[in-house]
Amino acid sequence: MLDHVSTFTRSTVREAQKQALLQELRAKGIKNEAVLQALATVRREDFLPEALKARAYENVSLPIGAGQTISQPYTVAFMTELLAPTPEQLPTYKVLEIGTGSGYQAAILAAMGIRHIFTVERIPELFAETEKRFAALGIQAQMRLSDGTLGWSENAQFDAIIVTAGSPDVPEALAQQLAVGGKMVVPVGSQTSQRLYRITRVHAASGADAFQAEEFQAFRFVPLLGEQGWSA
Ligand code: SAH
Repeated sequence: MLDHVSTFTRSTVREAQKQALLQELRAKGIKNEAVLQALATVRREDFLPEALKARAYENVSLPIGAGQTISQPYTVAFMTELLAPTPEQLPTYKVLEIGTGSGYQAAILAAMGIRHIFTVERIPELFAETEKRFAALGIQAQMRLSDGTLGWSENAQFDAIIVTAGSPDVPEALAQQLAVGGKMVVPVGSQTSQRLYRITRVHAASGADAFQAEEFQAFRFVPLLGEQGWSA
């Protein structure tokens, strides 16, 4: 729709839309300034197919190909707020993302100054496209094409794990790759609706009492497919 206006006008419109979205996120309760600053910095249009760039600052999930979606900005902000590092944690903070998709969530983490980002995707075409995108945008994240429900044991333990697809249960392999004090944000539920949980590892022991769970609101994610998710 904005295709025949000048690039200057288009970016002015997008900037106004971005400011309106940030207001909406604040009104919905997002408070962490580092998270809001990251959403202000990262150009969501860079993570969308050409035909959808004009909708970058609508607070909706959008298709990115291969039947997958880029999450709603509110969802990204909410999940990121649940695992945001303190300024003291930031220099060494190590995060694992399951479900790279477009790379937008990883870009938000990078914009917050997190330097140790690991992200796993299972669909080859999304992996390849996002690998090119990260190179073009200068985003530093280590990528892997594999079943993320098994985590990335070579780089464990993680201070935070973010699962951006809906799981039938908390994947055990991921829980075991959390550092003591580390937090995993994971949507758990059916294939059509999930609740968000934050799992905190309180002990090094591997039993269930090594973890504490907090429950948050309902969200809708695409399914997490794999050995410790839904069967592919
Ligand atoms: N974080 C992404 C959201 C992508 S949607 C973004 O910011 O754009 C969820 C992604 O999880 C999809 O790309 C899907 O292919 C991927 N996925 C689903 N199951 C997976 C698994 N077991 N391992 C890795 N990625 C998985």
